[in-house]
Amino acid sequence: MRRSIYFFGGGQADGDAQQKELLGGKGAGLAEMTRLGIPVPPGFTVTTEVCNAYYAAGRALPAGVEDEIKAAIGRLESLLDARFGSPEAPLLVSVRSGARASMPGMMDTILNLGLNDEIARGLAKRTGSERFALDAYRRFILTYADIVLGVPRDRFEEALGRARKQAAARLGVDATRLNAAELERKVPDSLLDPESLASLIQRQKDIVLGATGRPFPDDPYAQLWGAIRAVFDSWKNHRAQVYRKMHDIPEAWGTACNVQAMVFGNLGDDSGTGVAFTRDPSTGERRFYGEWLPNAQGEDVVAGVRTPHPLSRSGSLGADAEDACSLEAQMPEAYAELVEVQGRLEQHFRDMQDLEFTIQQKKLFLLQCRTGKRTGRAAVRIAVEMAKEGLISQREAILRVDPGSIDQLLHPSIDASAPKRLLARGLPASPGAATGQVVFSADEAERRAGQGKAVILVRSETSPEDIHGMKAARGILTARGGMTSHAAVVARGMGKSCVAGCSAVSVSQGQMAVTLYDDHGHPTDTITVKAGDLITLDGGTGTVYLGAVPTVPAALSGEFEELMVWADAVRRLRVRSNADTPHDARTARNFGAEGIGLCRTEHMFFDEERIQAVREMILADGEAGRRRALAKLLPFQRSDFVGVFREMAGLPVTIRLLDPPLHEFLPQDEAQLQQLSRAMGVPAKELQRKNEELAEYNPMLGHRGCRLAITSPEIYEMQARAILEAACEVAAAGIEVEPEIMIPLSMTRRELAITRALVERVAEKVFAEKGRRVDVRFGTMIELPRAAIVAGELAEEAEFFSFGTNDLTQTTLGISRDDAGRFLGAYVEAGIFTRDPFQSLDVSGVGELVEIGRDRGRAARPGLKLGVCGEHGGDPSSIAFFERAGLDYVSCSPFRVPVARLAAAQAALAAETPRGPRSTD
Ligand code: PEP
Ligand code: MG
Repeated sequence: MRRSIYFFGGGQADGDAQQKELLGGKGAGLAEMTRLGIPVPPGFTVTTEVCNAYYAAGRALPAGVEDEIKAAIGRLESLLDARFGSPEAPLLVSVRSGARASMPGMMDTILNLGLNDEIARGLAKRTGSERFALDAYRRFILTYADIVLGVPRDRFEEALGRARKQAAARLGVDATRLNAAELERKVPDSLLDPESLASLIQRQKDIVLGATGRPFPDDPYAQLWGAIRAVFDSWKNHRAQVYRKMHDIPEAWGTACNVQAMVFGNLGDDSGTGVAFTRDPSTGERRFYGEWLPNAQGEDVVAGVRTPHPLSRSGSLGADAEDACSLEAQMPEAYAELVEVQGRLEQHFRDMQDLEFTIQQKKLFLLQCRTGKRTGRAAVRIAVEMAKEGLISQREAILRVDPGSIDQLLHPSIDASAPKRLLARGLPASPGAATGQVVFSADEAERRAGQGKAVILVRSETSPEDIHGMKAARGILTARGGMTSHAAVVARGMGKSCVAGCSAVSVSQGQMAVTLYDDHGHPTDTITVKAGDLITLDGGTGTVYLGAVPTVPAALSGEFEELMVWADAVRRLRVRSNADTPHDARTARNFGAEGIGLCRTEHMFFDEERIQAVREMILADGEAGRRRALAKLLPFQRSDFVGVFREMAGLPVTIRLLDPPLHEFLPQDEAQLQQLSRAMGVPAKELQRKNEELAEYNPMLGHRGCRLAITSPEIYEMQARAILEAACEVAAAGIEVEPEIMIPLSMTRRELAITRALVERVAEKVFAEKGRRVDVRFGTMIELPRAAIVAGELAEEAEFFSFGTNDLTQTTLGISRDDAGRFLGAYVEAGIFTRDPFQSLDVSGVGELVEIGRDRGRAARPGLKLGVCGEHGGDPSSIAFFERAGLDYVSCSPFRVPVARLAAAQAALAAETPRGPRSTD
């Protein structure tokens, strides 16, 4: 193991920005800022390796680490001319977690550590404020008891309430009829006087003694060891685990622990604390943006209990109340220094930074600097604008945007023309429109979402314990907190709609009361919204509506289009779409699809009238009956194909012949059976018998795919005819068509030879009837291991392959697609798979078969076109593999097309593939 401690302070640091793995994002940022000469309180980072060693030793600090920490504390003491544990010149520290990737609010932080009764008295003397010292002390006991000693915060609520009442009496406020929230409003923390605080501290200690059987630790070093252990422990707490899973953060990374000299933002009105972003994290606009609170500690801003003020004046004429409260107005010098520092940091790190700062008696300190989290929209705008500013290259801009976050840009927004009833306004914390039933707890959100309901989680403010509910909800509404509150930060990360700090809303006892205002801001009425009522959020504007409001599809920004142009210029893989209707085809084309990679013809049969004909076809006793049913289907199919060909004019359209898992199409109940019996003129009993005869034990491996055509060739005959007639019709209208007919689930050359001959026979007939020919390509899906292995033989018949990685995963792993959901979660949890193999390709297993299929197929037919049309075609990490494998295209659902375009560009850059020729398309 390397050294355990990395010191920073006095303009020098052991670590730097490159060492995120070892020091965590926060530790690396503090080290780098110190090196840059930015004012940072000195401190040291205990490395992630120590965290991992701590767990390896059964949660014990490795030998020697305590001595190294003591030595580092000694360095801090001499730098600051203070002593840890001394009442005369007390040194207090903060102890914070900091992993390689930021996990906002997921792990623990302890402030003001190093206090006991005597030291608190010393601190009072030194700062000249007894109130301040006691406030710091009682906050420390509360946090330490909660995080380190396991005595939950709410056990202290009553004691705090009593202290408020005591203070109220001294202030002459009648507190007898006030509830807890009203009392807090009338007697905020800042009005708690030294006497009330002193008795509160005593009561808190009594509570700790009662709950743990031990007195609160007085020895600062004992406090420090406890806090460091608790920070390491918090790496494996429940909410951190949930967060890691959602963001694919490996548990093996561990967290670092930062111990840093305290500076105080709560030392009076010339002190304060805040958070800032070098650009707007929600829109990406280039403006210095953030929030602060005077006379407060950092946790007050993030906890969202007090709604913070803006940093800058709005620039609008006239001084409104918000402007007057801004840091710019209140402390112009500290503000100017902060503006200078943020500019320097952004230039240095060449990315948008998220900063935490504290001003102690007018002096500015930076406490954190890290790459800022941002919405998908902001990510695109920042990347494009930074490239134009010359701060980064276009290539870097492409690599900066997480393809997954593009999804957010494609979310629907509120239909501006729809009638709607405004309920309230809050902060536009995370974009997107969401409608759902109101729920008031995370558990309830999870429960109702589990029943398939869309829900909006409404809370006074969220805390990390709410994360599972936020995950389950469509949107989040909070009554308190700013743009950097927990709800705002987490929702933005999840890409969920969120309206925060909606002060017209108050939540209590399972309902929310909403105050309505007139245009002049005067309250007019109050209405009550109960659990289960529908509301709609517009996270882009911060508006809340009563009831369900219609939404419209996303409009993409100019920067997005620009980024896509850059991405397309470096991308080698083509991107097509899976689309089964003219409407989907149009959506896909609008998103930049370069053709259809999979049109699932059975999906064209889902509507009422058609499914009846399909059932007739399936249940018909002989060929004649089947042909009668097929004759009904032919016109539907033909007109659908005409629509799809028109939408995809000039681009290839791969149509897969019927591949219905039969069980999805059989009559499901008595009523359907009766209806069918009437339509077919066959007794229901007879149909029931046939139905039972067709039932399969394992329909996924049953009479599916081209096996259907081997037993009933007339089905593929009808489909081939519908495709070719449609192609001729569209071509006759002067529109270029490129039909590709694809055979599903083939495993032998002979299957392909038979179906190919069938298609060719039909084609010749149709061309003769129509008096024109169109080029049509014949190909197959590779969905079975055997197909990949005998790809050389299949390529003798097929002009293209499309890897159906859904089935190829199912058949390679021997895991049924329909049943996998029940146990694959446990496989991911146990680390057997890093991700669900049906979402993200199993590269070493299924991927190997793809490569075998590629090599053998291309050896037999040079220039064989290769694509992918399973779900993996829209998954960025799978796309990286398909790029490395040298396939020609991926095909994915329409909304994932932009994701795939960007992912393909990133994959090309990562592989630095020379832009070699691709097969003609
Ligand atoms: C596949 O198996 O990957 C595929 C695209 O086909 P389907 O999902 O329709 O079985
Ligand atoms: Mg398939």
